[in-house]
Amino acid sequence: MDAALARSRRHAEAAREHMVQLEIAPTPENFTVWYHYYAEDLPGLRRAMDILISNRQEFTLDVCADLYNRFFGLERQTLILRQISTKIETAVSDAIGVLDSAHEDARSYGAVLGETAARLDNGASASLVREVVNRVIGETRSMIDRSDLLEKQLSQSTAEIGELRKQVESASREAMTDPLTGIGNRKMFDYQMKQSVQAAMEHGGELALMMLDIDHFKRFNDNFGHQFGDMVLRLVARSLMEGVKASDHAVRYGGEEFAILMPDTQMPEALMVAEQLRRAVASKTLIKKGTKETLGNVTMSIGVSAYRLGEPVTVFIERADAALYKAKQSGRNRVLSETDLSANDPPAPL
Ligand code: GH3
Ligand code: MG
Ligand code: MG
Repeated sequence: MDAALARSRRHAEAAREHMVQLEIAPTPENFTVWYHYYAEDLPGLRRAMDILISNRQEFTLDVCADLYNRFFGLERQTLILRQISTKIETAVSDAIGVLDSAHEDARSYGAVLGETAARLDNGASASLVREVVNRVIGETRSMIDRSDLLEKQLSQSTAEIGELRKQVESASREAMTDPLTGIGNRKMFDYQMKQSVQAAMEHGGELALMMLDIDHFKRFNDNFGHQFGDMVLRLVARSLMEGVKASDHAVRYGGEEFAILMPDTQMPEALMVAEQLRRAVASKTLIKKGTKETLGNVTMSIGVSAYRLGEPVTVFIERADAALYKAKQSGRNRVLSETDLSANDPPAPL
């Protein structure tokens, strides 16, 4: 057997045994993480996992998902972008090559015309004129043929560049999308926040922020399994998307936390939307597929803040977080805003 095959079989077998021993779900992502642990080809991953193992950290689905995202999620994105950028460079240099050769053709055509004009200068016989005219016609024809060819090449390069631009757009959309729920992720939030704050500063507009956190979400995972928890996350994400305006930006901020940025929205309106969202989610009853057994309701706590022109974004987010924390402390399943905070309310813990 070839040595590389034998080696990769050894890594795969060691990964499989370790996963069975630690009762780690045999998903492709988890296998990737453990395979590379044994292949020792990613020193960072090996180090991170050795630390977890030596701390006797349990390899829960979340821990494995985090490792996968850290070492493979981003790496994949970077690889895609790098491949696209190489292709763009080639397409652009092809297009430049086409332009250079068009320039060269025009120059040599000009030279032929110049030379011909010189021959006609000192009085010319009829046969010379005929010969010269034929030559000019011939040169003109081949110049037209070459131009046609160049035009085709140039439009091919343009089409390639257009196609690559689409690939870049779709790669960056993918990088800003949460794969579980299909809505924006934290990267999207950071991007939208920057844009919205800039727009608010430029036009003196209003900007509201909602931080939402599912109440006792852990119980769904613990009682009905992680897959069920995932379904709850998708349900909440869908309710948020359906409940906000097209100009609002709803994202999965992390774990079971969501955020909504609402440009041109004053506090009373933001609070009204928050209350509607809270009710919309709470009114849904979860029912088990086969047995139709009722599994309870999902509730959320929500904190709302309003942007103060010029303040750092972190402070804006902290106020929504502090209001959310207070909503949790005062009983969950409710909406509070920054105006409900008093000076001695603690900031939300990190
Ligand atoms: P609280 O009302 O105080 O917010 O309680 P909680 O249980 O919602 O909050 P806690 O932070 O204790 O637990 C959040 C849980 O969310 C822990 C983690 O396992 C789970 N979680 C995070 N991301 C995912 C995911 O993508 N899928 C699933 N199923 N669970 C997740
Ligand atoms: Mg929660
Ligand atoms: Mg939370």
